[in-house]
Amino acid sequence: MVDLYGQYQKIKPEVDAAISEVISNTTFINGPAVSRFATNLQHYLGVKHVIPCANGTDALQVAMMALDLQPGDEVITSSFTFIATAEVIALLRLTPVLVDVDPVTFNISPEAIERAITPKTKAIVPVHLFGQCADMDRIMDIAKKHHLFVIEDNAQALGADHTSANGLKRKAGTIGHIGCTSFFPSKNLGCYGDGGAIFTNDDALAERLKMTVNHGMKVRYYHDFVGVNSRLDSIQAAILDIKLKKLDEYAEARRYAANFYNRAFAACSKLTTPQTASFTNHVFHQYTLVTKDIDRQELMAHLQQKGIASAIYYPVPLHLQKAYLDPRYKDGDFPVTEHLSQHVISLPIHTEFDDETLEYVTSSVLEFVNR
Ligand SMILES: *Cc1c(COP(=O)(O)O)cnc(C)c1O
Repeated sequence: MVDLYGQYQKIKPEVDAAISEVISNTTFINGPAVSRFATNLQHYLGVKHVIPCANGTDALQVAMMALDLQPGDEVITSSFTFIATAEVIALLRLTPVLVDVDPVTFNISPEAIERAITPKTKAIVPVHLFGQCADMDRIMDIAKKHHLFVIEDNAQALGADHTSANGLKRKAGTIGHIGCTSFFPSKNLGCYGDGGAIFTNDDALAERLKMTVNHGMKVRYYHDFVGVNSRLDSIQAAILDIKLKKLDEYAEARRYAANFYNRAFAACSKLTTPQTASFTNHVFHQYTLVTKDIDRQELMAHLQQKGIASAIYYPVPLHLQKAYLDPRYKDGDFPVTEHLSQHVISLPIHTEFDDETLEYVTSSVLEFVNR
């Protein structure tokens, strides 16, 4: 689905030197590379605080811990997302409240959020799925009206822009009270292992987040509350710092591939190409088609036989996952999510395509679809 080796070949000298430097300095944990990267990411995002951590799942967990959410508090999130979003809610004994998504953008539906609010609701976790922003103007309005926290799950849309109705342009992940991201290798800004970060513009919250990732500690060996150990290591930070400088270029390459795919599939009635909402751009973490009257398993087998990867994100909605079965929910409750999970397919998208390869992918898809 991605070409991490091809991408590495283009930045190999810089990356190898940066890794060597960390090893030579033996500043493996909390070294200068980590603070340098955090500062550079802060500037890139235009956010006041970036707190690095060990992975994107931790970022979400730490966000909820720092907001002091209590068992039984309800947290509203999307039924169509990666499991991590709901997993940390459940792990902290908070109550995940799932809502359906918009059929066009696949992002959480503001109307559905509003309908799901109860006196126990404490937070909303919008996921900027596949690389475009959820409707943050409306989500922030709802949050303000009902005094709720907003934690953006920005694992898939780092670098995307959101433009508010008043013209204010901000980076995804910097609009809610807290933003979370992942540097998993295949993410738009990926390291060579695990990594994550938490963003906020709130000074007091930043302090609390920094303590939470560091055992609830501010003064060494004095622990004010129960925290976790969640760190980004220096080697990963050094690699991320190099790739951050290329993040916009990488997004352009992904958009180029997406536009190529869009043109190729425009006339195909059995494939709906991804649509971008007016208030966001798209960084295409995934390129996801909605199929009609197509056997996806057969299409995937056809592509695999031609040496082309494809994937289904996500085949099972959250409310139908074995670990999350809940008497509150049943099959049929989230029709848009359920339709998507049965009909979407994602094609390879990354930074290293040439036209010839894109042509090969699209003609292989169309060959199956039009046969
Ligand atoms: C990748 C991802 C995460 C988790 O990130 P990890 O670094 O793998 O823990 C969380 N939410 C979404 C939407 C993701 O895509």
